[in-house]
Amino acid sequence: MNFGLTSEQLALRDHVKNLLDKECSLDYVARCDEMGQPPREAFKALADHGWAICEDTLRYERLCLSAARIGAARQAFEFALDYSKNRIQFGKPIGSFQAIQHKFAEMKVMLDSAQTMVLRYAWLMEHGQAERGDTAVLKYLVGETYKSISDQCLQVLGGYGYCNEYPMQRFFRDSRLATIGGGTSEIQKNIIAGSLGLR
Ligand SMILES: Cc1cc2nc3c(=O)[nH]c(=O)nc-3n(C[C@H](O)[C@H](O)[C@H](O)COP(=O)(O)OP(=O)(O)OC[C@H]3O[C@@H](n4cnc5c(N)ncnc54)[C@H](O)[C@@H]3O)c2cc1C
Repeated sequence: MNFGLTSEQLALRDHVKNLLDKECSLDYVARCDEMGQPPREAFKALADHGWAICEDTLRYERLCLSAARIGAARQAFEFALDYSKNRIQFGKPIGSFQAIQHKFAEMKVMLDSAQTMVLRYAWLMEHGQAERGDTAVLKYLVGETYKSISDQCLQVLGGYGYCNEYPMQRFFRDSRLATIGGGTSEIQKNIIAGSLGLR
């Protein structure tokens, strides 16, 4: 198997570089050895259950990623909230302007709702009740929430939001993967529609 970094991406650059480093293939060999089977036989044994295994793995991946993304969205929110209390324009903190306050009110509702959905999905997983549609609802909601919150928080910081010396641009860049990687938002909506019997 060959690995190679062919194009630079918007964010998570170190992460991908590390993944493509030697550790990746060494770890694979070590795990095959632990199983006591040569890789070809291991693959043969799994061949009939490939999609089921893939779906199962995706459920865990989506739960873990969603929890991490809600944590990141909350960090962006808190940073922008603190900034809005300290940044003075027109003689007042910008957080005293209703236009800014409403952004935070909307973001608070989005964040708390999405976080509740992560906990709900974790409960469903624990009780073996997570359906394909539930996974898609979670992936879609959390991805779009993180993207929207990092965008609005960047707006709250104004020009500083766009500058590398502040962390907001990183939340903004990182969050763009949330609606693409591991299945795009459009595909999640297809799955949700399918789970409602619409084909
Ligand atoms: C940083 C990064 C890390 C990644 N890590 C992984 C990983 O670990 N494992 C992995 O398997 N993949 C990974 N991916 C790949 C990722 O899952 C794909 O990029 C993603 O699924 C979209 O596929 P695509 O890029 O081929 O886009 P395309 O399939 O070409 O889609 C382009 C656009 O068309 C839309 N579209 C396509 N088909 C439909 C449809 N039927 N209905 C409606 N809209 C549609 C898409 O939603 C999207 O907006 C990673 C990608 C990135 C950028």
